[in-house]
Amino acid sequence: MMDHSTIDAGSVAERYVTGRLAPEEAAAFEEHYLDCPSCCARVEAADRLQRGLRRLAEEAAVRPAGSLRWSRSPRLALAAAALLAVALVPAWMERREIESLRSGLSSVDRLNGDLQQARRDLAAETARREALGREMAADRQPQTSLPVVPLTPVRGGEGPVRTLKLPAKPGWVGLWVEPGDADFPAYRATLRKNEGAVVFQASPLALNDLGALLLTVHSASLSPGSYRLDLDGLPASGAPVPAGRFALRVE
Ligand SMILES: [Zn+2]
Repeated sequence: MMDHSTIDAGSVAERYVTGRLAPEEAAAFEEHYLDCPSCCARVEAADRLQRGLRRLAEEAAVRPAGSLRWSRSPRLALAAAALLAVALVPAWMERREIESLRSGLSSVDRLNGDLQQARRDLAAETARREALGREMAADRQPQTSLPVVPLTPVRGGEGPVRTLKLPAKPGWVGLWVEPGDADFPAYRATLRKNEGAVVFQASPLALNDLGALLLTVHSASLSPGSYRLDLDGLPASGAPVPAGRFALRVE
């Protein structure tokens, strides 16, 4: 039978938990501590600390440097617990264990640094994605304010000149083109400025249900001046056939 004061002075409870008692000593201690609340509490405390340290060491070991996960809060809680454990480092703890605890803590520090860097990276990435998302959402908004200019064919050199006012904020504008009596399976549209430089050419274009073409042009590609739109019919075979000429003024 072991005597309580001897047990207390010799840190037997902690040595028992860390498996450093000889089998006979362990058996004798077991007989005592089960009936001794003080020793029982000491065994439980030593056991909790032991398990906490083991878990800290395991978590530090399984994490390769540079790899990051998000579930860090248990680790931080454990780090806080470990700091507390250091402050209350028991007399029985061997130097080797203290060193191992210290190195565990420095891993936690390192991991904290990784975590902060990862949070900064994530914030930057999130901001970038949000900006991209807003841009895409704006692009997909129904273009309720899309200005559309209806163009009527110029006949015999005479014809109405339609005017397009450039929007204050750059955006898409529509040109509504009706080829009239021409009937081709497809068309080619060519927009020129001042009868010269081609602003855009698009083909093959199919007429919509209303027998017209809606050409969308970005206002940034237009500048004030006179424009001419040539529409050519594309027959099933053979060369394009002129199918209409339209005049446009951009202001
Ligand atoms: Zn006792």
